[in-house]
Amino acid sequence: MATLYDTLGVKKGASADEIKKAYRKLAAKYHPDKNPGDTSAEETFKEVQNAYDVLSDAEKRKQYDAFGSANGRRGADPRDFDFGGGNFTINDLGDLGDLFGGIFNRGGTRARRPQPERGADIEAIVNLSFEDSLRGLETKIPVDVTTACRECGGTGAEPGTSPVICPECHGRGVVSESQGLFALSQPCPRCRGNGTVVEKPCRKCKGSGRERRTRRYTVKIPAGVRDGTRIRLKGKGEIGDAGGPAGDLFVVTRVEPSRLFERKGANLVIDVPVTYSEAALGATVEVPTPYGGRVSLKVPAGTQDGRQLRIRGHGAPKLDGSGRGDLIARLRVTVPKKVTKKEREALEELQKVSRDDPREALFN
Ligand SMILES: [Zn+2]
Ligand SMILES: [Zn+2]
Repeated sequence: MATLYDTLGVKKGASADEIKKAYRKLAAKYHPDKNPGDTSAEETFKEVQNAYDVLSDAEKRKQYDAFGSANGRRGADPRDFDFGGGNFTINDLGDLGDLFGGIFNRGGTRARRPQPERGADIEAIVNLSFEDSLRGLETKIPVDVTTACRECGGTGAEPGTSPVICPECHGRGVVSESQGLFALSQPCPRCRGNGTVVEKPCRKCKGSGRERRTRRYTVKIPAGVRDGTRIRLKGKGEIGDAGGPAGDLFVVTRVEPSRLFERKGANLVIDVPVTYSEAALGATVEVPTPYGGRVSLKVPAGTQDGRQLRIRGHGAPKLDGSGRGDLIARLRVTVPKKVTKKEREALEELQKVSRDDPREALFN
């Protein structure tokens, strides 16, 4: 990239005197009076003027040097500042000028056209039942997205007509405004930097070339997704600017919680109530699986409340296809809220014969 020093043909560390000499020589050579009608000479003359304006002012030069080398950005040379494309307005230019301490406003003689810019990503939510999240499914989701206008094919011109070269900037996309010896350059307000204008705007999109519409995408939701899983559909997001690629569509799953099963990674936890006697004596109980079946579970004698037993392979499918997680039965020893007369007698008998003191450990 040419720097202001290159424009004057001096080294970066050149003295004020060297800069002045170089400037005088070039200014004399390219002066419009000496080159009548030669637009390229005029352009060079303006660039030379601009370079001298910055480099002959100690403060501006310091700022230019700092800005140019501090971060090495492409925009370091004010003449080559990249507007970033898109919807450029004159107000934006004012903001940039302030940002760069005024160098920009006086320095510009050339501006770039809008650069291709990637379209925005969009997000769509798909709601799933807990069962569907385990089985997976294929579904169509409606997405509101901006696409090229189908009427004009995205040109913005009424079908049968085409965009023409912008009469304001003659297709350059930028206009220069003289301010004394300096030229202020900005994206052409007529064509917004595109270099072309539409004479007869497309009636459907009013010349924007864009159309907002609902598209339906078929999405395959893999078995085992969780609440908040994001599935990326490349290139299905918003259309890009100036020929840039489209963004992506992210489908985010919202999974309805299950009444019975709690998800822990690929494992599913279910609370299984057991009676005091089942826990004390041991038992075989039935446990529902999330796939609609049931499995037998052996509860060992002497089981404590909260004990977890693993039932292999009955958990959620792993998204990498490496099988299923486990179903974890968390045993809950339950106490009846009411007892019958017979139960009461049996329990009183149990209390009499019980040799176990459950609070013994509290006092040791
Ligand atoms: Zn259109
Ligand atoms: Zn224009």
